[in-house]
Amino acid sequence: MKIIISHDIDHLSVKEHYHDLIIPKFMGLSSIELLRGNISLKTYIKRLVGLFRENAWNNLRELLEFDREHNVNSTFFVAVANDLGISYSLNEAEKAIHLIKKRGFDLGVHGIEYKNIDGISEEYNTFRRISGLKKFGIRMHYLRKNERTLDFLDKAGYVYDTTEFSEDLKQPYFIGNLLEIPLHIMDGYLFLPKYMGLSLERAINLTKNLLERAKKENKLINILFHQRYFSDEFPRYKGWYEWLVKYATENEFEFLNYSGLVRGL
Ligand SMILES: [Zn+2]
Repeated sequence: MKIIISHDIDHLSVKEHYHDLIIPKFMGLSSIELLRGNISLKTYIKRLVGLFRENAWNNLRELLEFDREHNVNSTFFVAVANDLGISYSLNEAEKAIHLIKKRGFDLGVHGIEYKNIDGISEEYNTFRRISGLKKFGIRMHYLRKNERTLDFLDKAGYVYDTTEFSEDLKQPYFIGNLLEIPLHIMDGYLFLPKYMGLSLERAINLTKNLLERAKKENKLINILFHQRYFSDEFPRYKGWYEWLVKYATENEFEFLNYSGLVRGL
């Protein structure tokens, strides 16, 4: 059984959000989680204090270290444009790309433009120039796409996309030369109040069931964990991720990244 774990980079710091609405939105969301009993008062205060902590919402080095230590051959998606809550600069994106590359991890684009081929190609070219990579793929921020997006991604030159969401373990398939690799589990979908808002225990049960099913049906399972949540300010997220890596390792899942999957076809 093969498992792909990937990390979308939506935030690299708190301060990049001083001029947008992400910080008040985040504290509003945390208040809802507190009132619903999803997080403790201690966690709520940690998040509040965290807003003034250098390196808060980054956690990139910590996650790279954790994945290396546990042989998680993950893929990181970095945005090279801004919209919908992504506000880090191209300069910061470049630093993150070089760090991830230096540590030997797989990289792709966290896509912003999904409707317009020129915008899609521009992000492709910017990432190619900054990363020095020739073959890479993409996942759209917020999994945004319309009926033409995948065609445009193929035309722009991406070798794979992993934006389609399927709770039914849908397997990879080609659209032209583009390999579409459906995503099966996403951290935010499990924990955010507007989606499932699960406890850690229920999230683990749900994930375990899907992993068991993948094992039984000999299918690839594709999971997303945002690097921002790899911190004690997000105990359910971090606890779930640590459990996931341990469980997959103990049950002999083979950790694969997207570029490795494409190369192996
Ligand atoms: Zn995103």
